[in-house]
Amino acid sequence: MAERIVVAVDGPAASGKGTLARRLAAQFGFAYLDTGALYRAVGLAVLHRHGEEAGPDDMLEVARSLTAADVLVLTGHPSLRTDRTAVAASRVAAVAAVRDTLADIQRRFAVDPPEGARGAVLDGRDIGTVICPGADAKLFVIADTEVRAHRRLKELHERGVPAIWTEVLQDLKDRDDRDSRRSVAPLRPAHDAFLIDTSELSPTQVFDKAIAFLHSRPAFAALQPSV
Ligand code: C5P
Repeated sequence: MAERIVVAVDGPAASGKGTLARRLAAQFGFAYLDTGALYRAVGLAVLHRHGEEAGPDDMLEVARSLTAADVLVLTGHPSLRTDRTAVAASRVAAVAAVRDTLADIQRRFAVDPPEGARGAVLDGRDIGTVICPGADAKLFVIADTEVRAHRRLKELHERGVPAIWTEVLQDLKDRDDRDSRRSVAPLRPAHDAFLIDTSELSPTQVFDKAIAFLHSRPAFAALQPSV
């Protein structure tokens, strides 16, 4: 099997990494994996089975018991994108053994992407540092906290979800804190990641910066956009 090209896109919530990662995957005909959805699926299952009071052992038991079919159902669940699920996801994500159960799925996706795609784009928090440290290109996407909170609020309102600015901002800060301070796989850029601050950029400007960087990487030198 020919070696696949791997692109890691990491960064905090609402930084614009998902939009960028999806667009890069479409540009090159690569498969795309939203790794946050895996953590959300486990978080949601934990909420269903144990509620808010679940401890690390409950979380691990749930993570180990989920089949691929369960994950598929949970990632399509209407509550997957709620803030309650995001908080549950960041709690399960702080448990090292839970991360281990999800690491294999992510690495397999990168090595052997679905439908024979010639590459994979994975977005998350630790793709460039832990899951795929040998990725061909690593992007780390950031934006000011208030800019991210505005984006998040707009997204919630567009989906018809009632949301209050101060709560959205606080939730983001708490989640940033938990993701950056945890002892296992904390959110931080890999030493060889290309940083993009999206605070004052349009999605197309972000995409153009990322493309310029990818074309500087050896794996992309001869690669044409997918048609
Ligand atoms: O990206 P998203 O906001 O959907 O991720 C939800 C939570 O899952 C994050 O706040 C983080 O705690 C966790 N996560 C992680 N590692 C990843 C992806 C997500 O720890 N690769």
